[in-house]
Amino acid sequence: MNDTVFAKIIAGEIPTHFEYEDDVCVVFKSIDPKDKTHLLVVPRKPIPSIMDMEEGDEEIVGHLVLVAKNMAKERGLKGYQLWFNVGKDGGQEIFHLHLHLISKFA
Ligand code: AMP
Repeated sequence: MNDTVFAKIIAGEIPTHFEYEDDVCVVFKSIDPKDKTHLLVVPRKPIPSIMDMEEGDEEIVGHLVLVAKNMAKERGLKGYQLWFNVGKDGGQEIFHLHLHLISKFA
């Protein structure tokens, strides 16, 4: 399944400014920010959810955390939340895995 809005953003079908990108992931602002900073760190690989992680995906997920840490450091954020919504009953709405970086600091 590769037809989510995030797959379209990664494919360039929905024009979106990337705050950062590399071979593994892209980072863009949430369209509906929950606080002053709300970035989404999204792997290029369309893993639907943490529930669907396979052997080897831990490198990708670890990379997302490292990128989020670097983005927060670059922005001088003094504190922040990193969170995954996992599954429909975990509040996940878009089934292309993503890490939320949320902070009350801008
Ligand atoms: P989740 O509930 O964990 O699946 O989170 C989905 C996130 O994607 C929310 O922060 C939404 O505001 C955000 N979102 C949905 N559509 C877009 C879009 N087109 N561009 C940027 N962020 C989006």
